[in-house]
Amino acid sequence: MRGDSDPIAAVATAGGKGGIGVVRISGRDIQAVISGIIGRVPVPRAATMATFRDAAGVPIDRGLALYFPAPHSYTGEHVLELHGHGGPVVLNLLLQRAIELGCRPAAPGEFTQRAFLNDKLDLAQAEGVADLIDATSARAARAAMRSLDGAFSREIAVLRDRLVELRALIEATLDFPEEEIDFLERAQAATRLESIKAALAAVQERSRQGARLRAGFTVVLAGRPNVGKSSLLNLLAGEEAAIVTAVPGTTRDAVERSIMIDGMVVNVIDTAGLRETTDQVEAIGIARTRREIARADLVLHVVEAGCALPEDRAAAAGIPAAIPRLTIHNKIDMTGETAGVDGDSVRLSALSGDGIAGLRTELLRRSGLEGAGEDVIISRERHLNALNQAATAIDAAAMHLDPAHTALELAAEELRLAQQAFNLITGEFGADDLLGEIFGRFCIGK
Ligand code: GDP
Repeated sequence: MRGDSDPIAAVATAGGKGGIGVVRISGRDIQAVISGIIGRVPVPRAATMATFRDAAGVPIDRGLALYFPAPHSYTGEHVLELHGHGGPVVLNLLLQRAIELGCRPAAPGEFTQRAFLNDKLDLAQAEGVADLIDATSARAARAAMRSLDGAFSREIAVLRDRLVELRALIEATLDFPEEEIDFLERAQAATRLESIKAALAAVQERSRQGARLRAGFTVVLAGRPNVGKSSLLNLLAGEEAAIVTAVPGTTRDAVERSIMIDGMVVNVIDTAGLRETTDQVEAIGIARTRREIARADLVLHVVEAGCALPEDRAAAAGIPAAIPRLTIHNKIDMTGETAGVDGDSVRLSALSGDGIAGLRTELLRRSGLEGAGEDVIISRERHLNALNQAATAIDAAAMHLDPAHTALELAAEELRLAQQAFNLITGEFGADDLLGEIFGRFCIGK
């Protein structure tokens, strides 16, 4: 077992009142803590009714105790869960009792960190745990659950194993040239590399979609007063009953709303909320919103169909030019134009709803999630970076395998770098399985 294993304790359920509340304890040696609270060590992995007592033996609560002896627990250490009544005071008394008996309060994520250090989860799975808890849509939750189950890690492992195998062949060719074994039929090596690259490209695409699914798609709503921005937002939000909770913070509530389009969270920042202010708190909120606008994915610039005013340009001028734009020509019910999407412009009526479906599809398309299957990979920046690193190294390796200027050492080195990049994702470092791979495949002692 690696890492610290001093006993830690925390209230594992959310703050506030609830039907039940759980205090979780983990450590290499927690027998004294268990006996101190419930008087005996419960039968492993069975729900045991118990009274939880303070130092004087006075009951704090009565509930279920669950004991998971190492290594068959979430953290890989001995774990005790106390399921009591979900009140903040009673849970805090239980936590204090555990601390009195030698536990220290767990740091954020420390149980999962221990699970990782004890090889219960790899890094991508551990991140899946956090993503499942943080999921803002059912679709993101399903994707996080797949990562937690190890689906992403397994895909990475398959890619990495294929690379290792290819690298073993290349190294064998370098190490035993006198055997004149053409381990490396070059054309075949290149084909294999090409196929790994194609598989990686598919993973990259699904990861990009998953990164978008995880972070949501941020849209800025701009336009002069009365063009129909609020009407449009309400219509978009109302189309699907599930309106995601507003982002907390008083000022931001006024300017940002999250809506759902086909299971994707779209954060809409309404620039109407960005007024000049002397209120310091509001000013901080507005400055933060402006920073978010600078990072937004798309601007929806709303204008009145058939009526371009100088104020329209002024309204859009405050939005950074670098952000892609869609011009929404609203109120087509008044001009008689037909609804539709045409390049960067959309014609619709927020009053009648005509054209709104086209806008939704266009938003999905621009988010990159249109047509995304259920196999999106919930991803973070570091995953995307690692996948890019791997792709770059694989490209370089392919170049060194080119028959015109073959440099096998360099190809092997690039494949090693690609392998390292994959290892970054699952958090496995260093282990060089290459020799085993070579000796396992060839009868060297013959
Ligand atoms: P905002 O100031 O840009 O947020 O605009 P509002 O959404 O408050 O709309 C301003 C006015 O335009 C309201 O009276 C709306 O009912 C009206 N409006 C909004 N969209 C349409 C539309 O598509 N057609 C028509 N005829 N009126 C609209």
